[in-house]
Order: sequence, then C-alpha cells, then structure tokens
Amino acid sequence: MEEKDKMEKIISLAKRRGFIYQGSEIYGGLAGTWDYGPLGVELKNNIKNLWWKMFVKSRDDMYGLDAAIIMNPKVWESSGHVATFADPLDDGRKFNTMFKTTVGAGEEATVSYLRPETAQGIFANFKNIVDSFHPKLPFGIGQIGKAFRNEIAPRDFIFRSREFEQMEVEYFVKESEWEKAFDMWRSEMHKWMDAIGLTKAAVHELEVPGEDRAHYSKRTIDFEFDFPFGRKELYGLAYRTDYDLGAHAKGSGVALEYFDEETGERTTPHVIEPSLGVERTLLAVLVSAYTEDEQNGEVRAFLKLPKALAPVKAAVFPLLKNKPELVAKAREIFETLKASVGDIAWDDNGNIGKRYRRQDEIGTPVCITIDFDTLGENPELLNTVTVRDRDTGEQKRVNIDELDGLLSSK
Ligand code: ATP
Repeated sequence: MEEKDKMEKIISLAKRRGFIYQGSEIYGGLAGTWDYGPLGVELKNNIKNLWWKMFVKSRDDMYGLDAAIIMNPKVWESSGHVATFADPLDDGRKFNTMFKTTVGAGEEATVSYLRPETAQGIFANFKNIVDSFHPKLPFGIGQIGKAFRNEIAPRDFIFRSREFEQMEVEYFVKESEWEKAFDMWRSEMHKWMDAIGLTKAAVHELEVPGEDRAHYSKRTIDFEFDFPFGRKELYGLAYRTDYDLGAHAKGSGVALEYFDEETGERTTPHVIEPSLGVERTLLAVLVSAYTEDEQNGEVRAFLKLPKALAPVKAAVFPLLKNKPELVAKAREIFETLKASVGDIAWDDNGNIGKRYRRQDEIGTPVCITIDFDTLGENPELLNTVTVRDRDTGEQKRVNIDELDGLLSSK
C-alpha cells in the first residue's frame, strides 16, 4: 500500500465510520478545525484516560490540574509568548500565532489570549499546589486540555490543527537531578508509545541541536513519527530549567520557590516537560493500527487497536434477526455486558461476514454471535457463544459466564 493511499484510506474511514469530520463542514469547513464523531470521541477519551492513568494516577509523585484556558494576559507577557510565540510569515515578518480575544465589556474590556499551550496554567498554579499538598521534590503536575494556535498553514489532516489538545507534565526537580528525571520521562514516553500500539520502527528520537531549541531549553528530544506524509514531530521532551517559574516570579512579584526542609534553603525548582499532543497521538495510533490483509479471498481493512483504546470492546450479534428467541437471548447478553464492560455494540444487520467487516474497520477486538446452539439445539453447547478474534479471524466456543472475564482481561 502506497503511503499516500494509506493516508487517504484513513481519512475516508475516519469520516465514513464516524471518527473524524471536518469542522463546520456544512458551511464549507473552517481550516485547521476538526469535529470528533461518536467513535472518535471514544478513541480520544480512551487515549486521554490511559495517559492520565499512566502519567498521573498510577504515580505517587504526580498531581492533576485543570486550569482555565483564558488566563490573565500578564501570564503570556511573562512567559515570553507575547514577544516570541511567532512563526515566519515571509522573509522579514513574523506572525504571532496566539489567538486574541477580549474579556469583559465596554471600557472594562481587556485583550487576552486563548492558551497556546497548557504548560503555563501549571506554572501559574505551582504555588497553590505546594501550599495545599507540601510535596517533596521531585514532583510533577499533569494536565490535559485544549490549546489554540493560529497556525499559518494548518495541514496534514489533524496533524497541524488550530485547536487541539495537549497532555503535559511539568516535573519539578532539584537542578542537580535534572538528568535523572529527563531519562526517567524519556523511558516513560517509550512505555506509553508501546502501550498505545505505535509501530516501534516508526518512532525516532531527535536530539534537538542548541540553535533550534526554544530559548529556555537546555536539552530537548523530539519524538518523531513516520506519518504517511513524512517524518514529523509527535511529542517533545524538554529540560526547561528554572526559566518559567523564574519568569512568573518576576512578572507577578510572587515568590515561586521550594523550601527544602533538610537544608533550610529556598530554591527555584528546575523543570522537565514531557509534552504530548492528543490529535497527533490519535493519528499515529490510526496509522499504526490500519492494516489490510486477505480473508476468504477478499481484502479486508481493519484497525488493530490495542484493547484499551478500541472505541467498542465487543459486538454482540444474534445469528438471525427474524428469530425472536435468538434476538431475546442476544439482547440479554448485550445488556449484561453493556452494564459490566460498557462499550458494547449491537448489530443484527446483514450477514455475519458483513458484520465482522464493519466491526473490524472500527477496531472492535471481538465479536460474539448467539446461535441456535446457544439455546441448546446441540445440548452440549447450551449457553455457549461464538467468539471471533479481530486480528486472526479465529473463532472459538465460549461459555456465556466466561465473557465478562474475557472482555475485561488485557
Ligand atoms: P511543530 O514544530 O510541529 O509546530 P511545536 O514544536 O510547535 O510543533 P510544541 O510547542 O512542542 O510543538 O507542542 C507540544 C506538542 O503539542 C507537540 O509535540 C504536538 O504533539 C502538539 N502540537 C503542537 N502544535 C500542534 C498543532 N498545531 N496541532 C496539533 N498538535 C500540536
């Protein structure tokens, strides 16, 4: 499959099956904006939930945050964004890519910005979290949220959007320990990319040379991914020094320090930042998962999504839709699994082969078929169903009681 074709196939599948639509489509769209349909929102939520679990909840050195998108404009002056968050428009002119907005009415109105990164909300809350929780260094604050950039040329489907989401950690360390923390997050990011099923050979680390780094960074690694349109930045991992806390302390006049009880010293912590985009993750996941093979002499396209990310965990089918006893039994199994597992689909439309194809295309790991043997036509098979695996196409007979365990296992 040509890479260009692959991208077109993914875009068309994403639209046809209700993952991703063009933003404001009925009005001809709005460049750089995308709407996530019923399956897209599930996939996105699954990505965010897994990130939150791995980067925040499963750790004892992390705190969560959900800061406001619109902040006091002084935040963006202190952070340097007003002066430097700009892309070249042509040879001489630079264009600041922050979206401006006004807050308040009439003469009270002030200009502010939609945040271009979630990080500053974290720095602005550093003192709040230190005062409420008295964490010991090293500790971090994690946040998932929208970010906005008036990109000069949004392109490559959802890769470069004007409205997107970030999953960011600011990890505060003693200056002498930044390298240890940098390596720790580097390995956590690899674990994450494994967990979401990214093709290993498509991920590359790029040590960003000094002249290309942001002015505050002493070391940055870009994690690049081989997208069908080229090798591009997927994530960043940066050592931001004490630049941000220092800048906000100066700008706000509020001390943003850490008091070390052992040494009795007050210091400004240094920061390691793993920064991950949700949309770029979702696209890399789709690119890694999109597979074509041949089954029963036909080409089939399917999404080999890890179970944790699949929008639908299992689909339940009555073999025939015009047999009330089959439908009733299937419905009962469907309701039970929906209550325990959640993301379960029902399909009684067309032949079983077609139903498999439809579920394969959206990455559903298993399909469960209820037939006359389930009802006891063959007494030995009473209360068993056919479970069919997405990746191998293999089918096995399983007792109804085992379904719950089968679906909740890894
Ligand atoms: P690029 O060089 O591709 O514009 P960047 O270096 O400006 O990216 P960062 O400022 O490091 O990106 O942002 C952190 C992460 O946020 C990126 O690694 C990416 O995952 C995501 N991201 C940044 N800009 C966009 C965008 N316009 N659309 C979607 N995701 C984005």
